[in-house]
Amino acid sequence: MKTEVKKITAESLREASELIRAGELVAFPTETVYGLGANAFDDDAVKRIFQTKGRPSDNPLIAHVHTDYDLKKLVDFDPPYAEKLRKAFLPGPLTMVYPSTNKVSPFVSAGGSTLAVRVPSHRGAQSFLKEVDLPVVAPSANRSKHVSPTSASHVLFDFDGQIPLILDGGRSEGGIESTVLDVTGEIPLILREGLITREMIASVTGKCEKYVRKEGEIARSPGMMYKHYAPACPAYLCESAEEGVALYRKLDQEGKNPYLMAGGVCLRELPPLRLLSLGDTPKEMAANLYEKLREGERVAGAVVAIRPKEQDGIMAGVMDRLTRACRS
Ligand code: AMP
Ligand code: MG
Repeated sequence: MKTEVKKITAESLREASELIRAGELVAFPTETVYGLGANAFDDDAVKRIFQTKGRPSDNPLIAHVHTDYDLKKLVDFDPPYAEKLRKAFLPGPLTMVYPSTNKVSPFVSAGGSTLAVRVPSHRGAQSFLKEVDLPVVAPSANRSKHVSPTSASHVLFDFDGQIPLILDGGRSEGGIESTVLDVTGEIPLILREGLITREMIASVTGKCEKYVRKEGEIARSPGMMYKHYAPACPAYLCESAEEGVALYRKLDQEGKNPYLMAGGVCLRELPPLRLLSLGDTPKEMAANLYEKLREGERVAGAVVAIRPKEQDGIMAGVMDRLTRACRS
């Protein structure tokens, strides 16, 4: 199969919509990362997503809809705080997990009893979802466990020859995936951190907890369990600039072609070595993380990441990804 990469135009949107309605997969941009889309009502198309990505079958998918889509077609239980959250943050990088009403393919929820729904704010994503006018399940458009894609070329690298069409909407500005928030209980529970932070959610609802899996419990968000976001080369996470530079020097002496990865205040503590700079602010670090991990696997024999000193807000999401990218 030839994989076409097309800018978003009326014509490419029509083609994308026809492909989705015919049960094919189409990759499209969002404000977080690129998604690999399929019709959420079509069992075979949903199954194809798992096959194409090599995604474990117990890891559920997020259904994406446009801003005018009637959510009641998909979910009906709704605590009062959920409406406030939708008003405050949607469209945007917040996925909300509701009790499922079994309207979409059962493979979407991967055997669970909830459905995750997201309304992306990216203009191209909205145009695509409006043209299709169906819920589109869309995990990140990368091979399972590999680094998530923030450009059409990243998607092509992972899926060339396997999907018919990638809609190219330029670079995803957010850079890390949406916050996943369970709204099935009295207090909203963060299952995956992202650009909508716990502080932002608590400012609307009063309370917001981070989900912590208890011993023996099945994870509420199975994706949290896996090694993820990993570059093809070895990646290490060091606690300080000093530790990072020492490991870099050791690997360099062994001829391993290491690159340091750092951002924020850590950058200013580094001697001039081969560097993958994540940028200065937490927002920049989120936006650059996957791009730099992919650059790392292209140019480096090993990536030595230094734990950023900033830890709050958006950095919680960046640290989650970085820790899992470096988990061996
Ligand atoms: P990705 O599609 O690659 O962005 O990953 C989606 C993330 O959302 C994974 O970590 C999933 O485990 C999580 N997720 C999707 N649907 C649900 C759901 N119904 N309940 C809990 N987590 C979900
Ligand atoms: Mg993913």
